[in-house]
Amino acid sequence: MGNNLHLKRNNSRNFFTVAPGIWGMKDIFVNIYMIMNPFDGNWVLVDAGLFTSYSKIKKMAARLFGDNSQPSAIILTHGHFDHVGSLQKLAEEWNVPVYSHYLEIPYLTGKSSYPPGDPTVGGGLMSLMSWAYPKHPINIWNHINILPENETVPGLPEWKYFHTPGHSPGHISLFREGDGVLIAGDALVTTKAESAFSVMLQIKKISGPPKYFTPDWVSARQSVKTLMKLEPKTVASGHGKPMYGKEVRKSLHKLSEDFYHLAVPVQGRYILEPAVSDASGVIYIPPSNFNKKRMVIKLLSFVAVSAAAYVLLKQKSKNKRRQEILSYEIW
Ligand SMILES: [Zn+2]
Ligand SMILES: [Zn+2]
Repeated sequence: MGNNLHLKRNNSRNFFTVAPGIWGMKDIFVNIYMIMNPFDGNWVLVDAGLFTSYSKIKKMAARLFGDNSQPSAIILTHGHFDHVGSLQKLAEEWNVPVYSHYLEIPYLTGKSSYPPGDPTVGGGLMSLMSWAYPKHPINIWNHINILPENETVPGLPEWKYFHTPGHSPGHISLFREGDGVLIAGDALVTTKAESAFSVMLQIKKISGPPKYFTPDWVSARQSVKTLMKLEPKTVASGHGKPMYGKEVRKSLHKLSEDFYHLAVPVQGRYILEPAVSDASGVIYIPPSNFNKKRMVIKLLSFVAVSAAAYVLLKQKSKNKRRQEILSYEIW
């Protein structure tokens, strides 16, 4: 099976290897992961991407594990729209159990919407657009299961999960202690998620959770601390490429120590007080001074200025790498 797997992996450009038995795939701007159980050859899907991810996930599964292969379970790091986009379709077709933390259940069973995104946090186009991101719940009540209380991960005996709230109430991260692999979801990410350029070009940077969709910064800080203490050797997250070794250690410590400066936005709806939720869903959202009209004007001028700057840069510089760096700074 090993050789077979190796050949299949080399024939595909759709996905990447994170570590032994772990593969990832980026769909537009978000990652999904497939993890093999070495003891029985079964596998688990971690998150379900966007609604466009369905056929890509199926294709990846077929290439890695054989035609019509299906996982023993689907594990959700959290229920944001970019992590559950193809979930309903896959869960129904495969008829496999889906697991999440109990505090995430209201958003997966049609009970509660997430707090709205915050387009005022700055950092780039992804933030500016966040007022338009879906926050309504999906409903997979007939497939959803609560993760075991003892932090074990169904279908993955080598792994443990950790509750890492802040980005969402029931957010979890997965850790394989044997070789220090962390699947962090969006508790922290390996690119600057607020910047469209950074996300599209996959520029590596250990960062806090996406600023525009994080409604509780005190919990988010505590979660990064929890993950830092695990001393992971590999970090793969919901957005960005996997990062390894010293690069991870150094920047994760820095992020944890200087969280308020490096991760928390200077301004925003959820800075002074968080959105509050319980097992029934969201129960309080701080008021917003967001003005949609003003934001659309800002967005249009932002796109116009950025496009003009990009054209200028393209003309002036023939050095591709330099173009990328300058564009990144501007966006
Ligand atoms: Zn998220
Ligand atoms: Zn995400």
